[in-house]
Amino acid sequence: MAAEIRVFTCLSDNFGYLIHDPATGATASVDAPDAAPIIRELNAQGWRLTDILITHHHHDHVGGVAELKEVYGCRVVAPHDKSTKIANVDQRVAHGDVVRVGELLARVLETPGHTLDHVAYVFDTEKALFAADTLFSIGCGRVFEGSYPMMWDSLLKLRALPDDFKLYCGHEYTASNVKFALTVEPDNAALQARAEEVTRLRAAGRPTIPALLGDEKKANVFLRADDPAVAIKLRMKGASAEEVFGELRERKNKS
Ligand code: ZN
Ligand code: FE
Repeated sequence: MAAEIRVFTCLSDNFGYLIHDPATGATASVDAPDAAPIIRELNAQGWRLTDILITHHHHDHVGGVAELKEVYGCRVVAPHDKSTKIANVDQRVAHGDVVRVGELLARVLETPGHTLDHVAYVFDTEKALFAADTLFSIGCGRVFEGSYPMMWDSLLKLRALPDDFKLYCGHEYTASNVKFALTVEPDNAALQARAEEVTRLRAAGRPTIPALLGDEKKANVFLRADDPAVAIKLRMKGASAEEVFGELRERKNKS
């Protein structure tokens, strides 16, 4: 039986995600930006929280953990402390580990760069990638703790997943990402198509997530820093993918 995934807003622009295994009733929250909207969604679905899968230590991803653990006694899974300590953790995970949520399996990918502790969770049978603040739709996270080569390497791990996987990212930043991406690649047809879709979804008050990974590979310039055509657009002909990625990220920071 396929898992059910719920997408909702937490805080101002974070996504809340619940993934539910109908076979066992297990339900995981991927990150916990804020307890109240997560509890509200659980109640609306009639689900009980069994697990929290944390991606990184930033407050907008762990702020609700203590309260949820108090209410549900759920298991808290998190990466190892590589920068700031994450509290209330029951199980630490590293690259290649597999986390069980009922009968669902999540593969852990270490994706450092945004923070040193950042991990993504991949549910292969559900074709679902929870990338938090590493990969956004038409963008990527800011590089706070790692280096540009480190972040680029993390993005390559996510790009290696199949095209029919769905991207569930940490924030609703898609419209602003599209605006920036069009300054770099005004003629990218896949990006133009995504821009129209995002305008339509936002006008209807709907989230732009999930996004199809295959579409991201064509429309998201941050996933194509190794494409010579992108280097040429940035007047960086012959530069390495890491250099092109760093330039893209710096331009976005200033945009
Ligand atoms: Zn973050
Ligand atoms: Fe965040």
